[in-house]
Amino acid sequence: MHVTHTATPSPNRFSIIAGGAAQLTIDLTALRANWCYLNGRVGDGCTCSAVVKASAYGLGAAEAGRALFEAGARVFFVALPEEGIELRAELPLAEIFILNGLFHGREQLYRDFNLKPVLGSLEEVADWSSFARAENQQLGAALHFDTGMHRLGMAVSDAISLNASARALTGISVDLVMSHLACADTPDHPMNRKQLKRFLRICEQFPDARKSLSNSAGIFLGPEFQFDLVRPGIALYGGNPAPDTPNPMLPVAHIRAEIINLRDVPSGDSVGYGASRVTSRKSRIATINIGYADGLHRLVGNSDSNPNGARVFIGGHFAPLFGRVSMDMVAVDVTDIPTEHLVRGATIEVMGAHVSVDELANFAQTIPYELLCSLGARYTRHYKS
Ligand SMILES: *Cc1c(COP(=O)(O)O)cnc(C)c1O
Repeated sequence: MHVTHTATPSPNRFSIIAGGAAQLTIDLTALRANWCYLNGRVGDGCTCSAVVKASAYGLGAAEAGRALFEAGARVFFVALPEEGIELRAELPLAEIFILNGLFHGREQLYRDFNLKPVLGSLEEVADWSSFARAENQQLGAALHFDTGMHRLGMAVSDAISLNASARALTGISVDLVMSHLACADTPDHPMNRKQLKRFLRICEQFPDARKSLSNSAGIFLGPEFQFDLVRPGIALYGGNPAPDTPNPMLPVAHIRAEIINLRDVPSGDSVGYGASRVTSRKSRIATINIGYADGLHRLVGNSDSNPNGARVFIGGHFAPLFGRVSMDMVAVDVTDIPTEHLVRGATIEVMGAHVSVDELANFAQTIPYELLCSLGARYTRHYKS
């Protein structure tokens, strides 16, 4: 996109004017700081990796991957081999694991790009082993065990049978033994202890391998959950890894929209589709350039029957959304905002330092993961380093 550097009418100097799309700024300094914070939370013997699947939760795997490597991350997790190939181009020296495992018949792809499958079944182990033997190579992999999630991963009994068989693991270098917590963001959930206990039994079968159990939230369950390597994703991108306590992470994704129209609406008139919201006073309404096409989910809007909705931040004040979210726009009730901030072109924070990703996700009745992953392609993106 052609970027012009004309004088901005916006009171916020953060922005670069491009066209008319809302702006998504990804703060790579904050991303690096978040990795360093988590790395400092874990013990000396514990490696802090980085999960950058789904294009680093929608924020850009190449940019995030480079920044995280600069911060010190050397081990990366993605979901798909394609994602691994993209990351490999950026990070020739990184250790890259493919969380969704070994896809049937794609062994060559993993080998060519030095990607390590997270093997989630005995079938996958057998395929990776026979490929390695045919190639006369020792190939790295993680072994994934199911401790209660019942999604991917081998059973505890498989750990024993893998070890009992002389042949099962030939050609495979077991670089990691891992499992995944189902309820880590609910610290008191009995699943956490149950999964830990099962994982410890599996670990006994692989005394020499690195072990890993915890995602972002798992890190905060305590040192016994950290093992040799932790796998944070959402916390790196600013989501709160320990809900119900203040968020120690810095916001990474900042969304800014701008006022494209301002109007006075008399008391008793409706605003937006469905006339879902009627003013109860003479109101000042600002229309801003962001909508559900930008991942601002319709659920963050409101109606008279359910007036609880998201808020945005303008000139040091919060202002509520008013009515339904349209595809490309949404209305904001700025009646209580000092008039000096109310000019066409003024910047509005939709998410960032004041409106957290957790808060916005909550209004959208989802989790910060899904919110970030669905931000859409229309933004003018800036990577701030
Ligand atoms: C996505 C994922 C993670 C990262 O989880 P967060 O909750 O984002 O920290 C870790 N491990 C596995 C197996 C995953 O699929």
